[in-house]
Amino acid sequence: MAAFCKGRSRFKRVLLQQTLIRNLTGKFDYDLVVIGGGSGGLACSKEAAQFGKKVAVLDYVEPSPKGTKWGLGGTCVNVGCIPKKLMHQAALLGTAVKDARKYGWNIPAPVSHDWPTMAEAVQNHVRSLNWGHRVQLQDKKVKYFNLKGSLVDEHTIRGVSKSGKETVLTAASVVIATGMRPKFPADVPGAVEHSISSDDLFWLRESPGKTLVVGASYVALECAGFLTGIGLDTTVMVRSIALRGFDQQMAGLVTDYMDSYGTKFSWECVPNKVEKLASGALRVTWEDPGSRAEASDTFDTVLWAIGRAAETRTLNLEKVGVALEEESGKVIVDDCEASSVPNIYAIGDIGEGRPELTPVAIKAGRLLARRLFGASRELMNYNNIPTTVFTPLEYGCVGLSEEEAERRHGKDAIEVYHAFYKPLEFTVAERDASQCYIKAVCLREGDQPILGLHFTGPNAGEVTQGFALGFQCGATYRHLLATVGIHPTCAEEVIKLNITKRSGLDPMVTGC
Ligand SMILES: Cc1cc2nc3c(=O)[nH]c(=O)nc-3n(C[C@H](O)[C@H](O)[C@H](O)COP(=O)(O)OP(=O)(O)OC[C@H]3O[C@@H](n4cnc5c(N)ncnc54)[C@H](O)[C@@H]3O)c2cc1C
Repeated sequence: MAAFCKGRSRFKRVLLQQTLIRNLTGKFDYDLVVIGGGSGGLACSKEAAQFGKKVAVLDYVEPSPKGTKWGLGGTCVNVGCIPKKLMHQAALLGTAVKDARKYGWNIPAPVSHDWPTMAEAVQNHVRSLNWGHRVQLQDKKVKYFNLKGSLVDEHTIRGVSKSGKETVLTAASVVIATGMRPKFPADVPGAVEHSISSDDLFWLRESPGKTLVVGASYVALECAGFLTGIGLDTTVMVRSIALRGFDQQMAGLVTDYMDSYGTKFSWECVPNKVEKLASGALRVTWEDPGSRAEASDTFDTVLWAIGRAAETRTLNLEKVGVALEEESGKVIVDDCEASSVPNIYAIGDIGEGRPELTPVAIKAGRLLARRLFGASRELMNYNNIPTTVFTPLEYGCVGLSEEEAERRHGKDAIEVYHAFYKPLEFTVAERDASQCYIKAVCLREGDQPILGLHFTGPNAGEVTQGFALGFQCGATYRHLLATVGIHPTCAEEVIKLNITKRSGLDPMVTGC
């Protein structure tokens, strides 16, 4: 073997040895190797280890163009759900301080927010989660490698460390769980050099100051929402519509609320240049949609939130026969999360057509491990996945948007029950409740199965989570009517819905 390998690089020698061992013995180093230690990858690897299997997980964070990097746990923990929700909470507290005065608290004015204090606390919490994930992997006997993984063949994984050292692993099954990263525009001079993305925002030590958020995805609106909430001058630049893919009536309520909350919106325009001035400020130039003349403004920070891209190029997937969706670059998967190569699977954001949400990645990962190593045949149910947009006025939904319900069933087959309501906590605080709204999109016939439920208001995530259970049980409008409310809550307004859109009656809830 040594003579045979003479003259080859160390990596090629190891690779050849591994292949020979595998071919002679039919044995692999691991039963399962997972590439990507985020929500899906960690859940899958830990579940597989519960079955006594030999499991390894490779996780590696490619620094953002600005150089930001973070620890184990993937997007959710480090640059997604967790820091986002904590910063959203910081903003909600700012509103609560204002409300508190109306409720009798003596709070000396002016109240101001300190970014470094918030950032340090949030970042410390995230670091504690990074540590927790490492400990959990150790406890469950999952081998963790801080390596960037790619495939050599369908059973062989090459891992490369930060310093360039290569490691070869073989596995009977391979799971790709590498997630996505924020996109930057290719054709806007200065965009990559002078801007940041959400990958950087949560790790800033100093306040971003006056910020331009480009994009109208939920990530864009959530970031703009909490930046406004902590008192920063924030503008959102929107090319076409906000919250694409969500119910557009609800999207309108979310942006209307943000507008009255203090977020500025520039509709129907996109930056065509980002320049750094001698002062350090960033001048952004765009074409004014009305006059078609060039317009510009200066900002301290420009944040692009125009979508996320699958980073499958470096994984060598196509070379080993894994089919990718041409436009998205995501892995084409079947109901079992299997790719076009039978022993290679993909879970989480990287799977084509999968909802890009943490609980989806976690559940799909766990179920896959149970099917691979337990006796389970249970498939992931991708229908009626609930979600919430954590904007200043939160928006929770489950099931179909009104547009999608009409598209699938026809306008005449749909009954929409709706209500504008005033959360009790808004009354004493004298807060505007114009955008607090609920609608249940139902089929018109029989017991009226509920196709979609949409809610804007406080604690939308908590409200929507409860009703999402009903969707798994085939909830109908009749079930809503048969449910007793919890008083006084906002959620009880859902089970009180009785005005149809079709009737044209005023959907304003009055009284308690
Ligand atoms: C700002 C923001 C807010 C969000 N808020 C929410 C929310 O409120 N609720 C919600 O449900 N979802 C939210 N999401 C989405 C959620 O974070 C993702 O859906 C989820 O993290 C996807 O999990 P995953 O396992 O597919 O990938 P990830 O969690 O992204 O993990 C992938 C991991 O693989 C690593 N990796 C990539 N390539 C390689 C390689 N070649 N080798 C080794 N490792 C590699 C990555 O560095 C990363 O650590 C948010 C996302 C963002 C960006």
